[in-house]
Amino acid sequence: MPSGAGWVGSRQLLKRLRNVMAGAGSAQRRLDQIVRIIAADMVAEVCSCYVLRAGAVLELFATEGLKPEAVHQTRLRVGEGLVGDIAAHARALALADAQSHPNFAYRPETGEEIYQSLMGVPIIGAGRVLGVLVVQNRTQRNYADEEIEALETIAMVLAELLAGGQLIDPSEPLATDPAAGMQLRLEGVRLSGGLAVGHAVLHRPRISIARMIAEDPQAELARVREAVAGMRSALDAMLAAPDVSAGGEHRDVLEAYRMFAEDRGWLGRIREAVLTGLTAEAAVQKVLNDTRVRMGQITDPYLRERLLDLEDLNNRLLLHLTGTIVTAATALPNDVVLIARSMGPAELLDYDRSRLRALVMEEGSATAHVAIVARALDIPVLGRACGVLDKVEPGDQVVVDADNAQLFLRPGEDVLDSFDQSMRARDTARRYYVRLMDLPAVTPDGVAVSLNLNAGLLIDMPNLAVVGADGVGLYRTEIAFMVRPSYPDVPTQIELYCRILELAQGKPVTFRTLDVGADKKLPYFNHEFDENPALGWRALRIGLDRPAMLRQQIRALLTAAAGQRLRIMFPMVAEVAEFDAARALVDVELERAHRRGTQPPERLELGAMVEVPALAWQLDQLLPRVDFLSIGSNDLLQFLFASDRGNPRLAERYDPLAPVVLRILADLVRRAAQRRVPVTLCGEMAGRPLQAMALIGIGYRSLSMPAAAIGPIKAMIRSLPATSLAAYLATLLDRADHSLGDRLRAFARDHDVAL
Ligand code: PEP
Ligand code: MG
Repeated sequence: MPSGAGWVGSRQLLKRLRNVMAGAGSAQRRLDQIVRIIAADMVAEVCSCYVLRAGAVLELFATEGLKPEAVHQTRLRVGEGLVGDIAAHARALALADAQSHPNFAYRPETGEEIYQSLMGVPIIGAGRVLGVLVVQNRTQRNYADEEIEALETIAMVLAELLAGGQLIDPSEPLATDPAAGMQLRLEGVRLSGGLAVGHAVLHRPRISIARMIAEDPQAELARVREAVAGMRSALDAMLAAPDVSAGGEHRDVLEAYRMFAEDRGWLGRIREAVLTGLTAEAAVQKVLNDTRVRMGQITDPYLRERLLDLEDLNNRLLLHLTGTIVTAATALPNDVVLIARSMGPAELLDYDRSRLRALVMEEGSATAHVAIVARALDIPVLGRACGVLDKVEPGDQVVVDADNAQLFLRPGEDVLDSFDQSMRARDTARRYYVRLMDLPAVTPDGVAVSLNLNAGLLIDMPNLAVVGADGVGLYRTEIAFMVRPSYPDVPTQIELYCRILELAQGKPVTFRTLDVGADKKLPYFNHEFDENPALGWRALRIGLDRPAMLRQQIRALLTAAAGQRLRIMFPMVAEVAEFDAARALVDVELERAHRRGTQPPERLELGAMVEVPALAWQLDQLLPRVDFLSIGSNDLLQFLFASDRGNPRLAERYDPLAPVVLRILADLVRRAAQRRVPVTLCGEMAGRPLQAMALIGIGYRSLSMPAAAIGPIKAMIRSLPATSLAAYLATLLDRADHSLGDRLRAFARDHDVAL
């Protein structure tokens, strides 16, 4: 909170600015007056205002202190110099010694060489940078945080003048995009699979704030209180909607979000901004701008997620304050492709679901809360579609191909035709797979393959019946931990695991214990810095070093599965001793349960994931100890080839169908079979028809994959001459090829295998 004197000062300043803004004269004259007032008020020798113009150029529009002839002459590209840096990153800078900053760009016409210190803030309006406001001092001045805040508040007021269209021609295209109006293909990241065609609706149409400066702060505070109350009851109503209240992680996400609406820190910041003299809407907008700026600097996915929720709430409150509750009711097309910079989970639910075809965001990650909710609603989502907001116009036709991580703006006839065909083919295939659902996954020559589901959320569970899978081959328990704001205690875990087992309706579920670390971080867990996270402190390593956490999970699993079959597997086992240690924890919990008189599972099977290559050389010792093995080919391949599985540059470099991979996998399944230890493969390979075909050819009889893959894999199996393939593959495994992909494809073609 700024000191009392601070905010009173800035309130007086805001009043004076308001008088100037409302006064007579051209916009240019008013701007000239404004920079003079600011310079005097902030005791700065210089105050300058740069305005963004076409071609991403910042033009000096008004200055107090720099040479007057530089006005409308000095121009900097966005990103150039300190002013350009402020605009490019939409963040404030305060430098006591600006000239020694590497980004300092000296412009002789301004005469600014005599000014040592600089403080600048972006002028943001409607979510875009409109210009930059700068003050400079001759001496090395350390600007205080309160001063930066005050300048930010002034910049907000100035945004009104800049956006008013009187300084520059409002039709001037600020983001000159040579591709405007043309067909465009953009890439992104698949956050929820699927294919959709529709018309672009820009999420969060600009809300224009009519009044920035308030007469009566107390009246504004009352408006904030009223709007917060209205927003809370709207959120409650949303949570009570039948398809949301049904439960599952998406509900947890929304509950956590609802809790944010009570956040005192957030409401406190709005209050503070009102007390500086802003209207309620302007205060919320200011907090929103601050949030965006903070977001730009945060890379931690969990914190970003929280800030996105906060941004969502700010927007929601703004809508309540301005009375512009934009929801489905406001003339939406029937096929909405929502385009957003980012979006909170509740915002998605504001839209009429029957019209929503897809969501495209400039930001977002697979664990983004909105992505989790969208998956629950079966809406394709493409994230990290860079620049989409600059390139799309409302109403544009958009094809979203989330499966292939791409989208087409204003697609031509050819693109539309081909998507039309793909959509129809998908519909036909879906109908075909539905017909296969109850048919066995057996090859024409009688080889039966068990097809299982990879799951991670409760909403995945109904798929077991939908696709006709034999069970859950991999339940990634960490996902449920990742979407919660705090560590789920044992009763919460018991409830979750009970529900999973209940939804499985007697089919076996293989629970993998927490596989966190590397790219999967728990928000409430102190993940220590790892130089090489994939090789670092993760999965079972954490479990054994923090046994209380692993034991709690085991206890919850044992309790939930009382009287039933329970399968538990441990991720990233690197040596037999680790498996023994994990088993010992299970034994301790079994013993405790026995003493408490709790009913144990009717049958308990413990397995190890084979993901670390070293384990392949310990099979003689490992196999007698385990009830089953599960091959995590995603990690196994990354470690075999020393090739980061998440690095797009390496994505195509090594092939899962390389003879060396198949040799190793064949050896694993053969040796396990000798000891009668069942093996499932649960990495991505299992869900790709050609690769799954090869796995069956080398002896795999149990695969686990995402729900959408079960139909295509079953179709492949039902057309595969497994014995001929096995004989053919046996002749190929000794080769030194990069990949056996072409040969296997040719085999499939020759034998009419449905790939
Ligand atoms: C694997 O590594 O293959 C696997 C199934 O586990 P995850 O993808 O969750 O690491
Ligand atoms: Mg793994």
